[in-house]
Parts: sequence; structure tokens; C-alpha cells
Amino acid sequence: MSLDLKALEQQHQTFIGAKLNLDLTRGKPSSKQLDLSNALLTSIDVNVASGNNPEGTDLRNYGGVSGLSTSKKWFAELIGVPATEATDKVFVGSNSSLSLMHFCMWLAYYRGIRSANTGWQQEALATGGSIKMLCPSPGYDRHFSICEELGIEMIPVPLTGAGPDMNIAKKLISDDPLIKGIWCVPRFSNPTGEIYSDEVVNEIAQLGKIAGDNFLVFWDNAYAVHTFKDGVKELANILTLAKVADCEDSILHFASTSKITFAGAGIAAVASSKENIQAFSKHFSFRSIGPDKVNQFRHMQLLPDKQALVVHMQKHAELLKPKFDRVDEVLNAQLGNNKLGTWTKPDGGYFVSFNAQPGQAKSIIALAAEAGVKLTPAGSVFPYKNDPEDSNIRLAPSFPEMEELEKALQIFCNCVKLSAARKTG
Ligand code: PLP
Repeated sequence: MSLDLKALEQQHQTFIGAKLNLDLTRGKPSSKQLDLSNALLTSIDVNVASGNNPEGTDLRNYGGVSGLSTSKKWFAELIGVPATEATDKVFVGSNSSLSLMHFCMWLAYYRGIRSANTGWQQEALATGGSIKMLCPSPGYDRHFSICEELGIEMIPVPLTGAGPDMNIAKKLISDDPLIKGIWCVPRFSNPTGEIYSDEVVNEIAQLGKIAGDNFLVFWDNAYAVHTFKDGVKELANILTLAKVADCEDSILHFASTSKITFAGAGIAAVASSKENIQAFSKHFSFRSIGPDKVNQFRHMQLLPDKQALVVHMQKHAELLKPKFDRVDEVLNAQLGNNKLGTWTKPDGGYFVSFNAQPGQAKSIIALAAEAGVKLTPAGSVFPYKNDPEDSNIRLAPSFPEMEELEKALQIFCNCVKLSAARKTG
């Protein structure tokens, strides 16, 4: 299909003239999705909160730093830790899994999670090298920001559609003991939407065997139950596989309800070996006298068991799937024939990963901004914001209502075509 530069320019000016303000940047739940959990706002009564509850504790007071036993069991089931091990192997606290990840990395870097003087930084100082983290890319920008803040060098590793390229990852790790970890978003990866294969999960579970000391897998399963349809591939259980390989200590498995209930007002968890969770809970007790048990309990009332969670997530899917379908339909209709981009059609999660022709992403994003559509800044999903191909654009269709999404997609497609037409003249 040939591109009519003049018509595309005119269309672009019309969009600019409309002075729109549309946003496809962040993977936020829409208001309708948040409404699904409104019972959280009214669900607790004073008798229950003050002690007449299965925990037999006054939820309004300090204490219980590693979380309520019911919420530990709840996350244990979500994560795949046996119920009998929930107390020892799951920590529930904070409103955000990202904050748990940040704290784990901070601890591992400066002090060592289990024993003092095993901090990565100390090894770097002793050897004169720098600490590094493997970053499957494109990935989650906030993971990369944590590394940048701590001065941890990031090494991109390509994703294959079924997880990171493990030949590359294993070679890097076995050649350099200062590579101290890997970031993973194993199900509906942000932004590619891929699910790690069983083989890849098994290989990651065993990385501790070939890595240097104190290696950690940051297993951020943020989209564990966020499918759009039944029958989507399940993720292999990394903690079980790691235990068999005697590498359980190297796995930190994170989860949260941010995109199940209220984003930023949910609950979060980390699961690992008993010894890691014991040590982590001790360190956490220096920064908090106890978690928000009221919120933990409210969550247990709203979603008491797996079946309730499944039904709840189906309601999310009913709201999300039409938006993701629409993205695919519009991109196909507008760009399908002219090879100006490829994109993912995920079975769950929050993102569509669009790959423009190399060298076009920055220009498309700038054009979209002119026309009133905010897109995630170019390169954001790569370490150091450096997309070597200047090609990837992350689209987040969850937040806008359908009408706004539709408009934003029309503008986006015009920008993709205009950018290409300007290049070829
Ligand atoms: N991890 C990933 C991969 C995410 O995409 C997000 C949010 O977009 C988060 C973590 C944030 O989770 P939380 O709200 O629990 O900190």
C-alpha cells in the first residue's frame, strides 16, 4: 500500500486541531475494573476488625509483621506454595510488590539478605568489578529504574516469545560471578505478553547452580491470573523446581493484588525459602511495626478462595478483552497490509508490544504527542532507555474507555504511516 504523504499530513493537522488529551502510557485498571472491588470500601465491621475474626486478633493494632495467616495461605495458593508451608515461606505486607522488590534488592546489594557482609556491593569493592543484573528486554521500566538507582549495571538479554534466551543468559552468568540476578515477568510479560515455557522456567530455577554467590531471581509474577480467556498455558512452578535443584534460596517470587483489586491499595507478597523469609521478615521489622492488617482482611473477605478469585478475574477479562481485541482489529485494518509494524496479541496481561520499522519509534511517539496521544517514552522498556533498534512502542489499552481508545488508535496509526511517509519522502 502506498502512503499519501499530503493526506496523512492533513489528517495529522486535523487531529492536532482537535486538541485531544489521550493516554496510552501506563497499565492502569479502568474505573470499571476498580468498581469490581468496591466492596472493599465497606466490607469490614467494627466487631470483626477488633477481634471477632478467624485470626483472633485486633486488626487495628500493630503486630504480625509477616502478614495474617489467612493472607499468607491465600498468596501461597496463588504462588504455588503448599498450604502447610505458607507460614514459613510467604511474607505478606506493603501495598506494592514493587516496594518489596526494591527492598529485597537494596538488602541484597548493601547487606546480604541472610547474613551481614554478603552484600553484593562488598564483593564488588573487594574485586574491583561492578555488580550486574540480567534484564530480559523489552521489560518493565520500573525494574530497570531500581537498578539504575543502585548503580547496578544492566545487561539486556533478548526474549524469544517463550522467555529469555537461556543460552545467552547461562553463558553470561557462568562467565561472570558479579552477575547477581535476573529480572523476570514470567506470565504475560510486560510488555511482550509472552509466557515463559516450562523448559525456560526449569532452567531459571537452576541458575543458582552456575552463578556466583548470592545470586537472586527476581520472579515478578504480576500478571499471574490476568488471562482474557480459559485454557491459557499455566506457568511452571519455579519454587518447586528450584527446591528439587537445591536452589530455593535463589528465588524471590513476588505477587500482588494491584491489578486484581485496587492498584496501589492492594496487598503484596514475596515467597522464598523458609530461611530467606525469616531473614527478610526480621529486616522488614526494622522499617515497619506491622502491615495494614485491616486491608489484608478486607481482601480475604472479598476474595475468600480460589474460586472467588477466578470469578473476579473473569469479570476483569470481560472488560479488558474487548479493548485488546479492538487494538488488534484497528492495527490490522490500518497497518495490516503495509508492513509498517508488527504487534503482539496477548492472551492476558496489560500490554501490547508494537514494533515499528527500525528507526521510527521516537518519531512516531513525538508525532502522537503533537496530536494529543501520550505514549510511553521511546526506549523506556529497555535498560538505560536504549532501544537499539528505536522500534518498540508499548501500548497500554486498559485505562481509556473504548471510545477514547478507538480515537487514540486511529491517531497512533496515522502517526505510524506519517512517520514512514516522511522518511521515504
Ligand atoms: N510488576 C510489573 C511487571 C508491573 O507491570 C507492575 C505494574 O505495572 C508492577 C510490578 C507493580 O506492582 P505493584 O502495584 O504491586 O507494586
